[in-house]
Amino acid sequence: MAPDGEGPDGKRPARHRVVIIGSGFGGLFAAKALRRAPVDVTLIDRTNHHLFQPLLYQVATGILSEGEIAPATRDVLRRQRNLEILLAEVDDIDLTARTVAANQMDRTITVPYDSLIVSAGVHTSYFGHDEFSHYAAGMKSIDDALELRGRIFGAFESAEAEPDEAVQRAWLTFVVVGGGPTGVEMAGQIAELSHHSLRRNFRHIDPSQARVILYEGGEEILAPFGRHNSKSARKVLEQLGVEVHCGAFVTDMDDETVEVRFADGHTERIEARTKVWAAGMTASFLGHRLAEQIGAQVDRQGRVGVLPDCSLPGHPEVFVVGDLMALDGVPGMAEGAMQSGRHAAHEIERHLRGEEGRRPFHYVDLGQLAVVSRFRAVAKIGWFQIGGVLGWLLWLVVHITFLTGFKNRLGALAHWAISFMGRNRAERVITEQQVIARQMIKAHREGSADDEEADLAG
Ligand SMILES: Cc1cc2nc3c(=O)[nH]c(=O)nc-3n(C[C@H](O)[C@H](O)[C@H](O)COP(=O)(O)OP(=O)(O)OC[C@H]3O[C@@H](n4cnc5c(N)ncnc54)[C@H](O)[C@@H]3O)c2cc1C
Repeated sequence: MAPDGEGPDGKRPARHRVVIIGSGFGGLFAAKALRRAPVDVTLIDRTNHHLFQPLLYQVATGILSEGEIAPATRDVLRRQRNLEILLAEVDDIDLTARTVAANQMDRTITVPYDSLIVSAGVHTSYFGHDEFSHYAAGMKSIDDALELRGRIFGAFESAEAEPDEAVQRAWLTFVVVGGGPTGVEMAGQIAELSHHSLRRNFRHIDPSQARVILYEGGEEILAPFGRHNSKSARKVLEQLGVEVHCGAFVTDMDDETVEVRFADGHTERIEARTKVWAAGMTASFLGHRLAEQIGAQVDRQGRVGVLPDCSLPGHPEVFVVGDLMALDGVPGMAEGAMQSGRHAAHEIERHLRGEEGRRPFHYVDLGQLAVVSRFRAVAKIGWFQIGGVLGWLLWLVVHITFLTGFKNRLGALAHWAISFMGRNRAERVITEQQVIARQMIKAHREGSADDEEADLAG
């Protein structure tokens, strides 16, 4: 790592400049770890919040409000005086000039750094079928969760208003693609909604007649949680009325249907108006930009290989952490991001104290958890597999501990009491905008791009 950065004009800035890209788990924990360091931190994110992604499914299914899982980053870090926040989208990183280029309110800004921590994470991947995004929202952002909330509750409204029985059935058929924790949580919650929370809410439909179908391409759902957990989660889901299909690949979809190919080779097309995509993620394009500049390749998920200390090969001043980092034995999970973010911050501090050498990052595996239904969760901690009510209590403690902000913890506890004791949903507001906004914005952007091209050509 270079000594404290000299500015381009040759003047030595007062303090070492650390730029952090991303206010997710990696970025936030790196920023917090630098609060007493003699550095000036600039945290850049395209959103104004720190998102607790593990609870997105609860926003989508009306349990929690978006504010409870996404506090404003400025507020979370308001006491950190050595830190500035830029609401901007990073377009590029120049490793030679040591600058980050970003779009801030339609202006291009260039932010110089002495040390850089890149924690830009991953986004939804449709495995080469980007057209699926029109019909099936992913689960990665507040926009996604609110859109899904609109689509799920909107589907029951559409069914209630629909005179044609076949179309009504299609509105009451929900398909979840992907049997990982998010898919399982979504399927379980939609089933809970239809069987319990929405009871007596409608006059022309019986919400409990809704079909919830979970398609998983692999041999079992929740495979990383171990055989026992996987089997028990499937049993609980089936008791809730979820139809679980493993070895089932979604090969096509449109507004009204989904086509699935099963392990035995046969395909089926079913009528389903509401689809949830919980099947895959791919890394931020910034991974490619970094890899290109060091002459390396990204891995299959687009992640950048780093040295054992989380730094970029040949660039000890640049750290890649969290989901964007490819490092043996570190999973793409919140704990991995928090720990690697903190590690990068500590390495920068050690360097500034003049300590020689680099310490490798040691990931401490605290296990993983997934909620299957009310009072039922599965957990895998090392060799231990925990399920049922015990798993759920563990889930409760972990989530209350890690949720950001005291007010949010209180709010979440109150909402959980409403949902889990009373089976009610406190956050059922849907607006027309939420459902169509993503597609309208996309169409608008594509339209603007076409107009620009036409202007250039003309
Ligand atoms: C639905 C869901 C459920 C999950 N459940 C669990 C769970 O139960 N347990 C668990 O351990 N993990 C879970 N995870 C994974 C966990 O959330 C991630 O591992 C963690 O968020 C990774 O942290 P990160 O900092 O690498 O990325 P993120 O938290 O994704 O943060 C990336 C940040 O970078 C910003 N950003 C990206 N690109 C740019 C750009 N070009 N310019 C500016 N800003 C940018 C984004 O806005 C975002 O704020 C879940 C993830 C999802 C999506």
